Amino acid sequence: MKERLNSTLKMFKDEIEHVKDINAAEELRIKFLGKKGIMTDIMKGMGKLSKEEKPEIGKIANEVRSEIEQGLEIIKQKAKQEMLELRLKSEKIDVTMPAVDVEIGHKHPLYLVLDEIKDIFIGMGYKIEEGPEVESVYHNFDALNAPKDHPSRSMSDTFYIMEDMILRTQTSPVQVRTMKSKKPPIRIIAPGRCFRNDELDSTHSPMFHQIEGLVVDKDITMADLKGTLDAFAKQIFGANTKTKFRPHYFPFTEPSAEVDVSCFKCNGGGCRFCKGSGWIEILGCGMVHPNVLKECGIDPEEYSGFAFGMGLDRITMLKYEIDDIRHFFENDMRFIKQF
Ligand SMILES: [Zn+2]
Repeated sequence: MKERLNSTLKMFKDEIEHVKDINAAEELRIKFLGKKGIMTDIMKGMGKLSKEEKPEIGKIANEVRSEIEQGLEIIKQKAKQEMLELRLKSEKIDVTMPAVDVEIGHKHPLYLVLDEIKDIFIGMGYKIEEGPEVESVYHNFDALNAPKDHPSRSMSDTFYIMEDMILRTQTSPVQVRTMKSKKPPIRIIAPGRCFRNDELDSTHSPMFHQIEGLVVDKDITMADLKGTLDAFAKQIFGANTKTKFRPHYFPFTEPSAEVDVSCFKCNGGGCRFCKGSGWIEILGCGMVHPNVLKECGIDPEEYSGFAFGMGLDRITMLKYEIDDIRHFFENDMRFIKQF
């Protein structure tokens, strides 16, 4: 038995010379130390030994086993070290390589102006409201007193998703949603994206931005509307800005008006910017139609209100003298970084 142990150790030492990787080392472990391995087989013979032989043979067997274990351990450590070195080599960072240029973002001009407009109205006690971009025909047209045959309802003007679902053509449905869910006094602005089946040219885009305004309370008059919009125009375009209200028609307001501001380039004298008139149109507005108040559960005998809607794209184009609405949607950093 002693001889068998010694020859096993010799055999192991011969074989481990040829072991190069962790898998081969594992195979060798199974061959010598596994449940059906050579050492287990030898140890089965221990029972047949005499009392005197047992301690001596047991000692040798332990020594052989621990030598085999140590041999395997050295191979495993070596293999691990080699793998680590390989990994370090492959993940090495070359600090002399030119850096990747990371472009820092910049606030979009539309959002710069939107922030400014929000600040102005928040300063006057307004809250910001939002509504869905996919809107029902009811909220976008019916509840806003739009006649059933109004041309704006047609497929050529409006993007229909289903028969009664559209991409909102204006932010005015947020008025309806607000009046139905809140009690007066109401004082809100609602900025957001709108969609119309328009051509894309320098002044039109199928996707554009509106800011809706709504005030409903007792004793609200046209004078409140004029005062509010005049204060707004002076803050956004300069203290010398004058406003002019021209009668107009919208289904959801009565009376309705369009508002012009005096040209901030020529101070009203007339220039190319204002096409010689001295005035620039900026928004539409009016007193909320009693039918709209009624539809939204507000008694027109007790309450009145005004509403206005302006194009954020247009105001931004005026303010920064941008000549083409398409610049807003091209995400060209050379354009965006100018503001
Ligand atoms: Zn002008």
